[in-house]
Amino acid sequence: MTNMFDIQIIGGGLAGSEAAWQLAEAGLRVRLSEMRGGGDTTQAHESDRLAEMVCSNSFRSDDAEHNAVGLLHQEMRALDSLIMRAADAHRVPAGSALAVDREGFAAEVTRAVEQHPNVTVMRERVDGLPNHPTIIATGPLTGSKLAEAIAAETGEGALAFFDAIAPIVHRDSIDMDVAWMAARWDKGGKDYINCPLDKEQYDAFVQALIDGEKMPFKEWEKDTPYFEGCMPIEVMAERGPETLRYGPMKGVGLDNPRTGRWPYAVVQLRQDNALGTLWNMVGFQTKLKHGEQVRIFRTIPGLENAEFARLGGIHRNSFINSPRLLDPQLRLKSSPNIRFAGQITGCEGYVESAAVGLLAARFAAAELSGETLPTPPPETAIGALLAHITGGADADSFQPMNVNFGLMPPLTERARKADRKKAYTDRARTALAEWLQSIPPCREAVGRGTMRSMVEG
Ligand SMILES: Cc1cc2nc3c(=O)[nH]c(=O)nc-3n(C[C@H](O)[C@H](O)[C@H](O)COP(=O)(O)OP(=O)(O)OC[C@H]3O[C@@H](n4cnc5c(N)ncnc54)[C@H](O)[C@@H]3O)c2cc1C
Repeated sequence: MTNMFDIQIIGGGLAGSEAAWQLAEAGLRVRLSEMRGGGDTTQAHESDRLAEMVCSNSFRSDDAEHNAVGLLHQEMRALDSLIMRAADAHRVPAGSALAVDREGFAAEVTRAVEQHPNVTVMRERVDGLPNHPTIIATGPLTGSKLAEAIAAETGEGALAFFDAIAPIVHRDSIDMDVAWMAARWDKGGKDYINCPLDKEQYDAFVQALIDGEKMPFKEWEKDTPYFEGCMPIEVMAERGPETLRYGPMKGVGLDNPRTGRWPYAVVQLRQDNALGTLWNMVGFQTKLKHGEQVRIFRTIPGLENAEFARLGGIHRNSFINSPRLLDPQLRLKSSPNIRFAGQITGCEGYVESAAVGLLAARFAAAELSGETLPTPPPETAIGALLAHITGGADADSFQPMNVNFGLMPPLTERARKADRKKAYTDRARTALAEWLQSIPPCREAVGRGTMRSMVEG
């Protein structure tokens, strides 16, 4: 097999496999470097197959009318996604969710990528940043030497190793007749949403955290220490009844306009995206089971009807500060030969990772053909996800993110609550169709190209 290639992809997970397929279908020669099968592995993968699903076997909801991830499935199918094609072919019954036979799924992706005449799969670990066109899709468990090389290039000190994530709430589901906007000691703008608790409510809340069912640790996670700044709230609650009141639930300096007094305790939410549609619960990282989070957090005054765009969780996760480091085409600003894709960009989940892999490949294919692919509109699920990780999110508090309607621009026309999700997905379908019409088909990319220059590897 030839050593000549147009572009290298590092990492054959969900994102890297999708990217390899897209580039190969566009007629570009791809070297896909995957360390599993070459003597290395990660703490979560169990096989040498490409696109292995490390935990659940679900691509989540397949409802493209009322669910943002279902919409993303539909958009990816329209973009000829290999991951979606293999998922559909290996679907197992799971109600409205798209769950798959994980082995059949990964085997099919592996076969499709390995057998593609434009792809050479190399079972090799890459430790440094190449100086030719590359997509880095090494995921949350990126090899440590490559992680160090990325840190050295980006000047970010280190990849952000992240232990815990806090829940994110849709702004329009917060009861502002109970909560109010203010900053502690009135410093700066009224930047936080504050939900007040009295002593009785606080005591019951702390007890619920202690009693709530937690997600079990994997064997290899057991010795992972918490960052002090990322301590799960239930662990703080266990340290003593007052711990949270002296930590993230501190009420001092926050005048409640309805009582004229500071609350006994408070839950603060901070804006999480540029649109102001998503707010994260400050300091509320947790390892409670998802159902328990919803039940317990809805006892917080003002959050009785909270809708969660993302629930909290804890697992080892490395990602780069994409809003700061990447341009809208997923290129590293300091080294535009290099693109990033998948979970390492700060998207969260199998589907999102594959979607960002698909986009990185389409952008690279266009560029290698001397063209520029316009970014998909933010009204689409895939465009909203891209916009979030490449600038819509606040770089200072950037955390991994699932696709959700809160990433999209708010609807301009009034819709009844029951009709809102459908209005988002209808608008997205129109926007995607217009975008697809405005871009050339991927398969023709190379024929038009002028800038293609092979790399010898
Ligand atoms: C423990 C755990 C559980 C998870 N559970 C879920 C879940 O239930 N549902 C969900 O949607 N998401 C889950 N995720 C997130 C999941 O990892 C991502 O959604 C998805 O796998 C990311 O796709 P990716 O392609 O970016 O990375 P991966 O699928 O992890 O692929 C990255 C690939 O890069 C390879 N690699 C790494 N470093 C190098 C190197 N230096 N050289 C060559 N190859 C390299 C790895 O071997 C791997 O094959 C979980 C993550 C973890 C860590």
